[in-house]
Amino acid sequence: MKISHNISLKNHHTFRIDCKAVTLLFIESKEDILCFIEKKNDYTPFYILGGGSNVLFTSDFQGTILLMRSKGIEIQEDTEDEIVFNVAAGESWGDFVDYCVQRNYYGIENLAAIPGLVGSSPVQNIGAYGMEVKDTIISVEGYSIGTGEKRVFSNQDCEFGYRSSIFKNELKGQFIISSVTFRLSKKEKYNLTYAGLREMAEKSLEPLSLTAVSKMVVSLRNDKLPDIRVIGSAGSFFKNPVVSDEMARLLREKHPDLVVFPLDNGAMKLAAGQLIEKAGWKGRREGDVGVYHHQALVLVNYGKATGSEIVRFYQKIIADVVLKFGIRLEPEVNIIG
Ligand SMILES: Cc1cc2nc3c(=O)[nH]c(=O)nc-3n(C[C@H](O)[C@H](O)[C@H](O)COP(=O)(O)OP(=O)(O)OC[C@H]3O[C@@H](n4cnc5c(N)ncnc54)[C@H](O)[C@@H]3O)c2cc1C
Repeated sequence: MKISHNISLKNHHTFRIDCKAVTLLFIESKEDILCFIEKKNDYTPFYILGGGSNVLFTSDFQGTILLMRSKGIEIQEDTEDEIVFNVAAGESWGDFVDYCVQRNYYGIENLAAIPGLVGSSPVQNIGAYGMEVKDTIISVEGYSIGTGEKRVFSNQDCEFGYRSSIFKNELKGQFIISSVTFRLSKKEKYNLTYAGLREMAEKSLEPLSLTAVSKMVVSLRNDKLPDIRVIGSAGSFFKNPVVSDEMARLLREKHPDLVVFPLDNGAMKLAAGQLIEKAGWKGRREGDVGVYHHQALVLVNYGKATGSEIVRFYQKIIADVVLKFGIRLEPEVNIIG
């Protein structure tokens, strides 16, 4: 197991805050996971980090960061209609999507260019443009940190929900995902349920193909999201709030243009970005922290923002949205420190 000490985390997370960790463990194999588990008392507190695209470090981390860096894509089944892959946790998600698109395997093309690693994809059940990763996952494999026991979670065991799973809730910090098994289709089928994507496909002169769809997705993303190679960010910073039917009705009396999505359980989901925009925060900047000018749900680090500056800034947004709408936004990003 490769170990480094007193290392800056700036290049290991997409908010690009200059903070440090006492120890960095590079997890490149299942043996490294087991070695960490055996010596875990020497490495507590610890935090499992994939690509660091869904985290905010508020200060230096006084413990050990486990950097998931294992590689490998293994074909487990290959039939006329389907292909089953087992993919190591440390593979890049975007590269895996490209690999499938190039080979005409259908099912994850709308999730192109989501930052991060394969091992994190089930944690918050990544989703975009009408697609969720849960619809292609057969199982998630890994190790219990408490016992070192290997466990295989079937799709149902993962308790997937909207940007959620058992790994984000009950098992958070207690289970290391070592690989994910996906089933993709070889039959031509596109998911154009997202209106913006459908419109693009209708206007396009190119015949529909997986490459064409993934290119459209990338172009839609580039219009709304910052380029994390240039501007620090962790994507959507807040969860979309869920309110009662009654609360949604009262809010719409005051704000008739409010976007409301009915959920299966009768509750209503609001668009956090719209609330932030209506509260006047879109494009606002304080020092090097800001709300992205193309998408109010995204907070950005323009250069030298510190974790505590970002915390102060997002707390001001929460307080203002409470004042204006009576709704308390919650961060979707994992706040560490
Ligand atoms: C510009 C931008 C756009 C984004 N767009 C989207 C989008 O469209 N849809 C979407 O769903 N998300 C989006 N995200 C959020 C983010 O990319 C996803 O949540 C991604 O899956 C995080 O992967 P990661 O490897 O960076 O995870 P990290 O941020 O490193 O970790 C996320 C969580 O998973 C845990 N974790 C990571 N690896 C493991 C493992 N092997 N075992 C156990 N736990 C683990 C961590 O402890 C942490 O709690 C976006 C982020 C950015 C910056």
